[in-house]
Amino acid sequence: GEKIRIGIAGYGNLGRGVEAAVARTPDMELVGVFTRREPAAVTPQADGTRVYGWDALARFEDEVDVLILCGGSKEDLPRQGPELAARFNTVDSFDTHARIPEYFASVDGPARAAGTTAVISTGWDPGLFSLNRVLGESILPAGETYTFWGRGVSQGHSDAVRKVPGVAAGVQYTIPSEEAVEAVRRGDRPELSTREKHVRECFVVLEDGADADTVRQAIVTMPHYFEPYDTTVHFITADELTRDHAGIPHGGFVIRSGETGPADDPSGQVYEFSLKLGSNPGFTSSVLVAYARAAHRMNARGDVGAKTLYDVAPGLLSPKTPEQLRAEDL
Ligand code: NDP
Repeated sequence: GEKIRIGIAGYGNLGRGVEAAVARTPDMELVGVFTRREPAAVTPQADGTRVYGWDALARFEDEVDVLILCGGSKEDLPRQGPELAARFNTVDSFDTHARIPEYFASVDGPARAAGTTAVISTGWDPGLFSLNRVLGESILPAGETYTFWGRGVSQGHSDAVRKVPGVAAGVQYTIPSEEAVEAVRRGDRPELSTREKHVRECFVVLEDGADADTVRQAIVTMPHYFEPYDTTVHFITADELTRDHAGIPHGGFVIRSGETGPADDPSGQVYEFSLKLGSNPGFTSSVLVAYARAAHRMNARGDVGAKTLYDVAPGLLSPKTPEQLRAEDL
């Protein structure tokens, strides 16, 4: 059949990841990258990738089957998501968990009006972790769900740190408490506060003249992102940042610890899903690309509006036909 034509809106870590993931996906082709910056100033990874300015999107409404939105969750997607869903089928990785219902509504209206399909908040968390939380809870109604992240760089939180006035550059690590993880894996089902499960550690390069205490305060008190955690802020030089913090590893686990059987003779059941990611954006982008295939197929069937991964049947992610899946993968 014809290849699915993919556009990339925003060319940062995820944008580059999507470019690489599409190149490994035989049933897709990349139309190009769209950037708000001067296109000549943006150098793509692959020689053959075309880079266009944001205004050029208007010329590509019939040339792009799915536009993958690679903007940041804090500042870019709240504006770009609703705007672009009115013009394209879209997939994004909006990851401000507390704002997902509001974001869903803001995208759903324009998508329904335009007859497009917009898969929001996919990736790994929100994303595959969300899916596994629901599987664990649906199968083991008597139990507790635990999510641990790291040790790793969180894109959403690093993005938030870099938007703080006075910050020139920075990176944020999320670190699970080993004690807490071991207790959960044993089936203890401990009650853990947000603060007991993880700590957050930031490495920040200040702008010239910025006040370290003001910056630290702005970070540790930021609602949703840092306020609920014990956060340490280290100030380092730009050279140290490049030398010690260039990689973007991540990972973590979702654990549902529950029980089945009669209450007086229960069996303990531990359901665990884990990821060990050499590159967080590399993996997240690959999830976005698989969901782009599903968005394209759902739109072709007339299934329009905003969707989360709970609305997407798993078979739609696969390049295989339903017949192939039944014969080869069940
Ligand atoms: P980046 O900061 O690398 O890119 C975000 C946007 O910033 C780009 O789309 C780009 O837009 C602009 N940009 C990138 N590089 C530059 C530059 N050098 N100068 C100026 N502007 C630049 O973010 P990521 O790609 O790492 O992540 C995007 C979002 O993905 C995160 O905010 C996070 O919320 C989400 N995410 C979600 C995950 C999940 O599991 N759901 C996992 C990982 C990330 P433009 O080209 O238009 O300038």
